[in-house]
Amino acid sequence: MSDDQATVSNEAVSMSLGEEFPDIREAVRRICEDFPPEYWRQVDEREGYPTEFVEALTNAGFLAALIPEEYGGAGLPLRAAAAILEEVNASGGTANVCHAQMYIMGTLLRHGSDAQKRKYLPEIASGNIRLQAFGVTEPTTGSDTTQLKTRAVRKGDKYVINGQKVWTSRALHSDLMLLIARTTPIEEVKKRVDGLSTFIVDIRASLGKGLDIRPLKAMTNHNTTEVFFNDLEIPAENLIGEEGKGFRYILDGMNAERVLTSYQGVGNARWLIKTAVNYAKERIVFGRQIGKNQGIQFPIAKAHVETEAAALMARKAAALFEAGRPCGAEANMAKLLAAEASWNAAEAAMQTHGGFGFAREYHVERKWREARLGRIAPVSTNLILAFVAEHVLGLPRSY
Ligand SMILES: Cc1cc2nc3c(=O)[nH]c(=O)nc-3n(C[C@H](O)[C@H](O)[C@H](O)COP(=O)(O)OP(=O)(O)OC[C@H]3O[C@@H](n4cnc5c(N)ncnc54)[C@H](O)[C@@H]3O)c2cc1C
Repeated sequence: MSDDQATVSNEAVSMSLGEEFPDIREAVRRICEDFPPEYWRQVDEREGYPTEFVEALTNAGFLAALIPEEYGGAGLPLRAAAAILEEVNASGGTANVCHAQMYIMGTLLRHGSDAQKRKYLPEIASGNIRLQAFGVTEPTTGSDTTQLKTRAVRKGDKYVINGQKVWTSRALHSDLMLLIARTTPIEEVKKRVDGLSTFIVDIRASLGKGLDIRPLKAMTNHNTTEVFFNDLEIPAENLIGEEGKGFRYILDGMNAERVLTSYQGVGNARWLIKTAVNYAKERIVFGRQIGKNQGIQFPIAKAHVETEAAALMARKAAALFEAGRPCGAEANMAKLLAAEASWNAAEAAMQTHGGFGFAREYHVERKWREARLGRIAPVSTNLILAFVAEHVLGLPRSY
């Protein structure tokens, strides 16, 4: 199914309005109680990886939510996975540390061979190996993904990979990487989306043998890296699906990614709003609660309204996705709304806390930094607006 179809047929897709997956949410909240905001502050300060948290989530089966039961997973729908990530963020943590496993999975699930699924999925479900790295973005081509320069050339029973990725999150904390590379030069394809292929790269087997990974220090603790491929040889059997169709496979997964990150944005916003409200009630200045001032109330209330709207759109996108219907428009709109709601909630929380918003022990500055990312990655708001303008409104392509 094409992801950029903007219209849906009139056939009904139902969507419940009650709390989604309350039992799962409650179980995730209980796990998160063992990892309070103070835990996340310490991980952030040492720019570490929250191994204990990821293990707890894995052991409870939540990171295998989308893996079918026959491969040892829970076989849950996308909304359940999204609810898990939302709750992590709503607890003051950050689901970014492990969310990729959920959306990368889709490419392997939908387009991988039986042999690949049998080889990797049970190991991922059990937590023996992590699939947390997704190599798409490149330094010279950025959002213009089809222009990416990393090449994979077939030589007998191997592919030889040369090129560079940037911002590959968690590559140093993952066993496998999903990689997109060009297998047919762009001059030789009819459409620029053709000739790109997706591969599973075994990071453990490749480090030092043509694969070099260097940490890229960033504003938030996202364990980002630069990845260099220098004549890296990988088995041809690591190609996912058909050669040359990788961009379509990735696009398939992008709607799932948009839905999941929308729920995460909503979770972020909920934590920030709750924290701002509590502080606004407690803090007394000029002999009264600061929350009595409309200048404090209104930005928080507005962020709440925006968060509810984002949650509704995210739920719609998820319902369409699960029904196997086109959801590119809804997934993109949800992503934009959630990113804006999360950022506005962060701004409201920061302003409400005044100087203490800067104090790390209040956790607001950390969530504020994390909230800013949603407007840039995994897709920037401009690119979403360009998509809506062109594919939903029928305006001329702007780039
Ligand atoms: C912390 C972090 C983690 C990340 N993790 C990953 C990861 O795991 N894997 C991965 O592959 N990538 C990852 N990324 C990369 C991320 O997906 C990109 O940064 C993002 O897609 C934007 O690409 P760019 O940075 O190259 O910006 P550019 O494409 O250079 O764009 C720069 C600015 O120009 C705007 N712009 C560009 N073209 C247009 C246009 N036609 N119309 C209007 N505006 C335009 C963009 O909206 C943006 O604001 C991560 C990034 C960050 C910061």
